[in-house]
This record gives sequence, structure tokens and C-alpha cells, in this order.
Amino acid sequence: MKIIIVGGVAGGASAAARLRRLDEEAEIILLERGGFISFANCGLPYYIGGETSGADLTVQTPESFRARFNVDVRTLNEAVEIDAENKSVLVRDSSNGREYRENYDKLVLSPGAEPVRPQIKGVDDRRVFTLRTIPDADKIRAFVEENSPKRALVVGGGFVGLETAENLMKLGLEVTIVEFADHIIAPLDFDTAAEVQNYLRLKGVNLWLRRAVKALYPTKKIIGAELDDRTVLEAEMVVLAVGVRPDTEIAKKAGLATNERGAIKVDGRMRTSDPNIYAVGDAVAVTNAVTGKEAYIPLAGPANKQGRIAADNICGLESAYNGSQGSGILKFFDLAAASTGLNESAAKSAGIDCDKVYVRTASHAPYYPGAEQMLIKTLFEKKSGRILGAQVVGGSGADKRCDLLAVAVRNKLTAFDLTEMELCYAPPFSSAKDPVNVVGFAIENILTGKVRQFHWNEIPAILANENAILLDVRTEAEYAAGNIAGARNIPLDNLRERLGELDKSKTIYVHCRSGQRSYLACRILTQNGFDCLNLAGGYLLYESATKNLGPNE
Ligand code: FAD
Repeated sequence: MKIIIVGGVAGGASAAARLRRLDEEAEIILLERGGFISFANCGLPYYIGGETSGADLTVQTPESFRARFNVDVRTLNEAVEIDAENKSVLVRDSSNGREYRENYDKLVLSPGAEPVRPQIKGVDDRRVFTLRTIPDADKIRAFVEENSPKRALVVGGGFVGLETAENLMKLGLEVTIVEFADHIIAPLDFDTAAEVQNYLRLKGVNLWLRRAVKALYPTKKIIGAELDDRTVLEAEMVVLAVGVRPDTEIAKKAGLATNERGAIKVDGRMRTSDPNIYAVGDAVAVTNAVTGKEAYIPLAGPANKQGRIAADNICGLESAYNGSQGSGILKFFDLAAASTGLNESAAKSAGIDCDKVYVRTASHAPYYPGAEQMLIKTLFEKKSGRILGAQVVGGSGADKRCDLLAVAVRNKLTAFDLTEMELCYAPPFSSAKDPVNVVGFAIENILTGKVRQFHWNEIPAILANENAILLDVRTEAEYAAGNIAGARNIPLDNLRERLGELDKSKTIYVHCRSGQRSYLACRILTQNGFDCLNLAGGYLLYESATKNLGPNE
């Protein structure tokens, strides 16, 4: 059997290696347009910042891959046309300009995705960069080394934008990020992204939300970036990180079925509309593992798994890809922002009746040195308690909790299952009730009617309602240090003896710092005949989110 693979990085190299492990006799040709195969694109931002070397990013060289897997690796060879009917590929060798045809029995496409380059004025200036390949990163590094720029403008507040921003800051640049949406990191919701945004500002990032770059005006020394509100920002370099689109022109021309986004349609075996052609990675549409609907989720984990699955099926093994749930994580200096499954807007557009809880907790026993705070937002289906998605923002241990919740999402576990999870515990690692158990308890309390909750964005309406009391149960000192104007303060530890001060005919909306003490207050109030609700996420979430409602810069 002769197999041609187009694209030699995550999905392509993974398919090639698995094919060889399954079939020692197959003829395998790996075509890669660029000069490198199997490199760690995810490490590119850290290469720019000097955290890792270029050599460390090349997991395999063409020679090492050839030696280990006996694969005919052809770098600088681009597949320019597929003749699906005659099962052949037209290849251009850019090292000598030669074009040749290569026949196949099976073809695997893993051409990835290309950075979107908005067609705005000035975008072709040499100081405007995108980041996809090692040569892209080399260009950015060389520009910084040769020109010592002071300021960089990063357009787009997604994963690549933020990781690049961090690494440019490490090189001493002042960084401004412009983001079109009302919050950065699209998989997060507004309120969890707000925590990251506040941290970014603390670190010195100039953040412009709800603004688009309309035009770039390069002069000899600087680039002026005009925003849609006519503000002009200045920088010596610009990095465009506004998202990616499937690099699928060749597939479309070959007549393979694609969706409106240009992603190749595949079945569970990663087979395209042509039974002899498989496609994997950032080029394909996937099924969202939570909603069952079509989605586009370009991430390294899915690409690698899909490459393996395509190889399995080519070699006659029953193996299926059951969808992506979009588990992703980002580091920005000492903060991690992780997410998995659905966020609020995804749940809403899927028509799922869901609710959410927020748990703010320490990464491990607070008395053991080094504990760091994290905020865990978890979405669950109201009728079943099924975990639909989670977002975790915090220091150490955020990744572990999001991973646990990713397993819960994948396996359709409910909040009740989370309460039962028996997880490893010793003070340096966790608490006897792990944060993920606490998420389960919090949801269970809602599902079993022990507490009702309200949300930070409902507070203006509550303050305007004469039948409502907004009650702050933090200590007097905490209240004095900052409070919601219009909130009454009765500290939790005095609540029982001061119940007479509260009007039983009114609904009491209770809050504390994180939601834990106010839950206790709600239990006291409920058992004394009051109608009450608890502020999800507490004062900290309210404060953090409302800081991000107005214009930002
Ligand atoms: P790629 O790995 O992009 O490989 C496609 C290859 O195909 C390219 O090398 C291209 O040159 C080649 N090619 C395209 N067309 C042709 C053709 N016609 N002929 C020959 N060759 C062709 N994902 C994560 O999960 N976590 C991260 O932290 C993360 N960080 C990232 C950071 C950066 C800067 C970037 C750019 C991406 C990051 N990703 C991350 C995304 C991840 O790298 C991709 O999801 C993954 O690489 C997709 O694999 P792929 O095989 O589909 O495409």
C-alpha cells in the first residue's frame, strides 16, 4: 500500500508514525511545504521569548524521522493539486522548482490552519507579523534583536496573542493588546476572562477591548494603528493573532466536501467525502463532544489523536474519533486560564438549560506554604446535574482541576459524581475536600434546593427593587475596605442575634467575599423563615467583572 501524507507536523507526523508501527511494508511519503517536520508549534511563543531554543522545538528532523520510521520525508515539497479520480497528487519541489506527480492508494491531509490576515491598509508592512511556523518566529526574533523595538501591538486577545504578548514583554517590550470582543480568550465567559484581564493590567499590559484595528499607518520609525473609535496607537511592531482558518484550498479544488468555514468534512474514521482520502487536524470540522453539533476546534491534542485514528483505519483497524470538547490552557506569567467543554454562550446556542457555580479556593491546604488561589466556574445541566463545561483561572493546580473537570465533561459525569471522586490528598497537593469535590457540593446544594443563587449582573436590578435587601455578611473591616453601594452589612458571626433587623417580607440577597460565608448565612436565614439567595462568586467576582464593564484602556 502506498500512502501520501500532506503536512508533516502534528496530525501528519502522527499519522505517518502510526502507519509505520502498524504496517512495516507500506510505502509512506510525507510531503511538507516548509523546511521542518514534526515541530512544536505550541512552543513558538516561548522560542520568541528565549525560554526554549529553536532546536528544542524540532521534535524530529527529516533525517531522524526517516531513520526511525522509514518514511520518505520530503520537506520543501508542496502538494499543489489532488486528482482524486486518478488517485494522484501534483507536487512542487520549491528547492528546485520541479513539479511531479505521485500516485497513492490512500491520501491523508493534515495541512493545518493559516493565521487570518485582515485585509486592512498597511498590513503588508514588514513589521507586521503573524505566527505559525519556525521561520515566522525567526522573523520576529530577528526584528527584535536588530531593531530593539520598545512597543509591540498585539491584535487579538486569544491564546496565541497572549502567549506572544507575554514573551515580548519578557524581551522588555511594552505591549498593547487590542481585542474586538468584550473580553479576551473566547472559550472563557466574560466574568472569568475579567479575572485574566485584571491580571494583564496588573502586569502592565495596555488592554483595549471592544475595539477593532481599522488601518495601519507605517512610517519609517513607527506604525500607527487606527482603531474603530479613531484612537491611534503607536508601536514599532505589530503581531496579528486574530484567529486561524483551515488551510484547505487544495481540498476544495479536489472537490472534497467542506463546510462554510472551509473545514473539511470527515466521518468518525476521519474519512473525507472521498473514501480514499482522510483528513485530520486544524483542517477538519469535528463534532462537539458535548452538544453533538458540528464545530471547529483547532488544537494540538485532537490533531495528534486524529492522525493516529486515520492511520488505524487505513490499516483496517476499527478506530473512531468521538469529537472534541475544546480543552485548552494558557499561561500568562504566573496565571493559568484553562477551559473545557461548553461556556455560557455555547450552552445557550445549543439550547441547553444550564446553570453555573463559582468556587474560589486554594490550590492546596492553605497552611502549607505555596498555596495559590483559583476561581473555578462550572456549568451544569439543570435537570440532570451533568457537567457541561468548566473554566479555571488561577495559579498552580488550575490545570489539574480543569483536567479533572474535562474528564467529567467527557464521561457525562454529574455533580453527584464529583462529590464522590476520591482524589489524592496530602497538604502540599490539595485539601481533604479537593476543589473539584467542592464544585460537586456547590452544585448539589443547588440541585437539592439547599440554596438559591443570584448573579453579579443582577445587582443593579436588586438595588432598585424595594422588596429586596442586599446583605453583605463579611466582617465590618472587609465591608469598610470596599463594598457594593446600597448593601447592608451584618457580619455572619452576628447574624443569628441580629435577625430581627431584617424585614421578613423582603427577599434577602446575601453576599460575602467568595460565596462560602454567604452560603452559611443563607442556611441560617432559610431555617429562620427568610426568603434568600446567595451571590454566586461573591464580592470578588462582582468587583472583578464590573471593573471590565466600562471602556478599557
Ligand atoms: P499543523 O501542525 O499546522 O501542520 C500543518 C502542516 O502542513 C504545516 O507545516 C504546513 O506547512 C503543511 N502544509 C499545508 N499545506 C500543505 C501542502 N499543500 N503541501 C505540503 N504541506 C502542506 N494547540 C494546543 O492544543 N495547545 C497550544 O498550546 C497551542 N499553541 C499554539 C501556538 C501557536 C503559536 C500556534 C501557531 C498553534 C498552537 N496550537 C496549540 C495549535 C496547534 O499547533 C495545532 O492545533 C496543530 O498543530 C494542528 O495540527 P495540524 O497537523 O492540523 O496542522
